[in-house]
Parts: sequence; C-alpha cells; structure tokens
Amino acid sequence: MSNAEQQVISGGASSSSHSVAGEGTDTESEDEVTVTEEEEEVVRSGTLLELDLLDCPVCCQALTTPIFQCDNGHIACSSCCTNLRNRCPSCTLPIGVYRNRMMERIVQAIIVPCPNAKHGCTDQFSYGKELAHEKECIFALCYCPAPDCNYSGLCNDLYRHYHANHHGSWESFSCTYEGQAWMHISDKILVLQEGRDGPLVAIQCFEEEQGVYVTVNCITSCAPGVSEFSFKLSYSPYGAPDRSMSFGLRKMNRIQKVSFETPDKDFMFVPRYFQNGVTSLKMNICIRRRGEE
Ligand SMILES: [Zn+2]
Ligand SMILES: [Zn+2]
Ligand SMILES: [Zn+2]
Ligand SMILES: [Zn+2]
Repeated sequence: MSNAEQQVISGGASSSSHSVAGEGTDTESEDEVTVTEEEEEVVRSGTLLELDLLDCPVCCQALTTPIFQCDNGHIACSSCCTNLRNRCPSCTLPIGVYRNRMMERIVQAIIVPCPNAKHGCTDQFSYGKELAHEKECIFALCYCPAPDCNYSGLCNDLYRHYHANHHGSWESFSCTYEGQAWMHISDKILVLQEGRDGPLVAIQCFEEEQGVYVTVNCITSCAPGVSEFSFKLSYSPYGAPDRSMSFGLRKMNRIQKVSFETPDKDFMFVPRYFQNGVTSLKMNICIRRRGEE
C-alpha cells in the first residue's frame, strides 16, 4: 500500500466535507485524484496515484456501495457477487455477506472532476458517477464531419468552424419547411447546417449488398434541451411513387462524431431493387425543433 493511499484512509476517519485540491492545475492526468479533508482548521490531503484501486478487481467497473469481502479480504462489487454465486473468484470462499465498510467510505470520499474539465466543465462527482454525467455533459467535444478534417471542439465552436471552413460543401436547413436532400450514394455523407452557425445534421448512406441504409443524426452534445430535433425522411423511387417509403424519429439521435459503420438501428433501408440502378437518392427531409411539431 502506498503512502498516498494510507493518507487517504487515515484522512477519512471522521468525514466532514471533501473537495478536490489542485483543481484546474492537474486536470490533464487521468489516473490521479487529489483528496482534501477539511476538518475545522486542519486540512489534510493526499494523492491517490492509482485510481484503478477503486475499481472492482473482478469486473473493473467503479466500485459502489455495497462492497463485499471474503474471509481472506478479497473484495468484489455486489453484481459480481451475484454473478459468481457468492464464491470469491480468488479463493472460492463465500463472498456477498460481509461488507467492507472502510472501502465503501473511501470510494464515497473520492471526488473526481468531469472528464471534460480540460474543456471547461467544473462539475465534480463521487468516483464512478462522472461517467454517467459525461454522456450528457455540455462540454463534450464534437468532431467535424467533413472528410479529411480533424477539427474537434465544443459544439458551438464546431458550428462556426464548419461554416467558416467548409463553405460551399454545406447545405442549409431550417425547421420551418420541408427540404430536399439529394445525395450521391458514393459521397456517404451530406451535412446540413441550420443558418450560418447553427446545429449540424448529418445524413449518411451506408451501401450494402442488399441496399442502402440511411441515417440522420445531429452533431451536438447530449446536454438536455440542446439541439433536440425530430425529423421525417421520405424517398420514392424514380417513376414509382407508389413505392415510396418514409422514416422518422420523434427524437433525432445526437452524436459527437460520425461513424462509418453500418447502423443496426434507427435507419431507413432502401432495397437495391428500389433504386433502379441510380447512384443518387433524392429524398425529402423535414426537420422540426422538438416542442414545435
Ligand atoms: Zn464487479
Ligand atoms: Zn477470497
Ligand atoms: Zn461535464
Ligand atoms: Zn472541419
């Protein structure tokens, strides 16, 4: 056991308030967290160099209360105890009855910054909870969808970047009318931008043997209330309007980075025999801001 770790444990003997020390100065290092114990005038702090010590040794997920131990002192999280039918994976003694209360207190006492702290997020969480927040953090990085562009930034910065750098390749949309999205299947992606520096919507084509999968995603952070759209996409094969198809979502998926892997859900599938040999799809798309449908 390292000195730093002992410091954390002794500092936790009487819990009052906990906060991160050195915030903003050391947010780059991912595997290190500083713990401060404020007790009236006395502030004691230490550095835990191996955050992995706070993960379940069996499933490697962040430990959360309750934490169990066997008679030999091996620990496991509660879902691992259940999955292993209460047999310790290290020594096969029973596990799942006796809790390791000190480990539970240590885990609760560790406060970590949001993984996006280096991009400006000041939120802090007890260990393990930051991952759930990260999924909807407004400071999540978004990646430019233009081919061969490596830009990434906060979503509003990306929107300005996109307008400034990819002018000519973008098409605009507005939430008040139905527009046309005419895309060449070989282009794989068509990006629509609302206004001059508004949200980006990526329409993507994934060509497979049986046909083409089409998806519509908004490139933005997943913070509640940010860029929430609904959409409806429709397509009718040339000369066969009776075979038209449509697909829409009441809540457009929000992504930070476009993927070029064929999707397994939330797509419109245009069978090859519907395409009549054409190499482009002329679709109608209607995008609405949620709440204004
Ligand atoms: Zn586990
Ligand atoms: Zn054991
Ligand atoms: Zn955050
Ligand atoms: Zn770019």
